[in-house]
Parts: sequence; C-alpha cells; structure tokens
Amino acid sequence: MTHVFNFSAGPAVLPKEVLLQAASEMLDWHGSGMSVMEMSHRGPEFSSIHRQALDDLRELLDVPANYKILFQQGGGLGQNAIVPLNLAGRRNDPVVDFVHTGSWSGKSIKEAARYARVNVAASSEAEGFARVPARESWKLSQDAAYLHICTNETIDGVEYPDAPEINSDVPIVADMSSHILSRKIDISKYGVIFAGAQKNIGPAGLTLVIVREDLLDYASPQCPSAFNWKTCAEHDSLYNTPPTYSIYIAGLVFAWLKANGGVAAMEQRNIEKARLLYEAFDRDDFYVNRVAPEFRSRMNVPFYLRDESLNQLFLTGAQARGLLQLKGHKSVGGMRASIYNAMPIEGVQALVDYLNEFAGR
Ligand code: PMP
Repeated sequence: MTHVFNFSAGPAVLPKEVLLQAASEMLDWHGSGMSVMEMSHRGPEFSSIHRQALDDLRELLDVPANYKILFQQGGGLGQNAIVPLNLAGRRNDPVVDFVHTGSWSGKSIKEAARYARVNVAASSEAEGFARVPARESWKLSQDAAYLHICTNETIDGVEYPDAPEINSDVPIVADMSSHILSRKIDISKYGVIFAGAQKNIGPAGLTLVIVREDLLDYASPQCPSAFNWKTCAEHDSLYNTPPTYSIYIAGLVFAWLKANGGVAAMEQRNIEKARLLYEAFDRDDFYVNRVAPEFRSRMNVPFYLRDESLNQLFLTGAQARGLLQLKGHKSVGGMRASIYNAMPIEGVQALVDYLNEFAGR
C-alpha cells in the first residue's frame, strides 16, 4: 500500500488501527453475522455500540452529568440553523451575540440572522482574521438568547486558547467542529457545544451536540422534530435513525483515544506537532502564516509561499512525497496543513523536512 500522510481539513485522516479494526469487522461484527451497517438501530448489537461510544466520549471529555450528549445529522452548517431554532426562544424578540473570527463564524452569523436579530459583538475581519478580538472590545448585548463563537476557525487557522469569560449567565454556544478532543476543555463554561464528526471524530454524517439540560426547553414550534434537541435527548438520539456506521467508527476512535492516553496525552502531542510546523514557517520569510502567535490553531495551519508563483510546484512535489491535500481552501488560497489527532508526529516531521527542502535550507 502506498504510504501517505493526509493533511485534509475534513473528511480527514483516521487512526490506522481504527480502519484496520473496522475492516476486520466489516462482514461480521463480533460474531453477529452482520455488518454494523446492516443492523437495526434499535437492536441489542447496535445499542451496545451506541452506549459504549457515549460512555467513552463522556469520560474522554469529562462531560458533567447535567449535560446531554446527542448524535445528530446535518453537520456543522445544519447546527447553524438548529441552534437558533432550539435556543433563540429563551427570549422574546431575541438577540443573538456573535464573535466573528473567520469563515465559519461568518456563515453562522448569516444563518442565524434568518431566525433572530444578530449582534456582531466583535470582529477581526478588518485585521484579516489574524486573531480573536480582545475580550475587552466585545460589545455584548444586555440580555442575549446566547453567544455563539467558533473556537477553532478551520479555514483561517485561528483558535481560542481558553473559553471566554463573559460574566453573565448567557449561554455560550461553541462550534468546536475542528478541534474537539484535541485539547482539554471545561465543558461547564459552555451551554452548547457542537461538532461535525468528519475532522477529529470519525466519518462525515454524524454531528455531535453536547447541551446543558436546562437549555432543552426553548425550541420554537417551527423547529423540525428530528432536530429538536429535547426530542433527541428524550429518545437517546434514536428519535429517528441516527448515522449508525459513523457512530460505530466514532466509537472506535474514542476507544483508540482512551488507549493512547486520552485527551491530555493528545493535547501534549498536538502542542509538539504544532510547534514543529510553525517553527518551520517562522525560520525565515519563505513561508508566511498570518495569525498572531497566541491564536494560532494547533489543528489547522494555513500558510502561504512568499512567492505564490511556486504554489503548483510546491503541491506537485508534496504529492510526489505522499504529502496529500495541502492546498488551501479556495476562499483564501495558499496552503493548509490540518494536523488532527490521527496525524502522527512522523507526518508533521515529513512535511517539515519537505518545507525545508523546498525552501532550499
Ligand atoms: N464549522 C466549522 C468550524 C467547520 O470547519 C466546518 C466544516 N469545515 C463547518 C462548520 C461545516 O460543517 P459541515 O460541512 O459538516 O456542515
């Protein structure tokens, strides 16, 4: 088999051990005679897979007892509508606060504006999304239904180092699609966390939602039942058919994480991987990363060649070395290396070696 390192932003690299296990269980899961894809979502086999995945995730993220974990569909963009449909009803004539730190929070703002008044409390757009705006500059509403942030901007490569302190009981909703499980987080600082699975969890099709129980009561009458968090919670995510195979693979990833030291060990590894990569950009001005150092993402590292006429040559050389999917998002150009949990340090080292070689160092 060709050996490659896959730097895709998502769907993204999965642990080899997980893929091997899934392959070995493809036709016959644990003597059931069935593939997981063929099982009833209400049968005992899938129930045990589902339960184990939930228990492992709760343990890995240290999710407090007063939070529900939901497995939904619709992706991150689906949640951009599902969140206001479930939460804007906390207020009459609701205002929703946002911090605009890049492409994905930008998309969330546009979608929420279809359901509520939107207040952009702070934005770093004028600075090319090079940072999270200083907390003192946020102009939060008096009584917002919630505050929405994207804690890791996958395209712009901007990551919140911590949960923001907002000194009120307004719930914080965080889109953690591209860095969930990559670092320790204090769940209790958030009202709702959501994440599409296809970056750091498993295959596309599964969307993780972690929601504090007291926030389950505000869905608007227009909210589709299948996307109503309370309905999903009451049916243990089995109100309608969940993405069963994606849940199974996610469960294997959670088991892999536990066997490899959990989130704390991943975080240490991710710090080291990010350090190696950013160091290669900062050595001279051959490559450029535009994000302020304290907000540089450990997961998604966008970079530009100073001489952009070399872009194609760079990508062709990378491909020849098995360093795949380094082309930046079409909206910003340049390059991007996504280095999720499943990217081994050897992959980052191989990329750094190539960066040095290409720069003639
Ligand atoms: N939010 C973030 C931070 C993302 O990175 C993405 C996908 N790249 C999305 C939302 C959209 O997710 P989906 O394609 O699952 O709707």
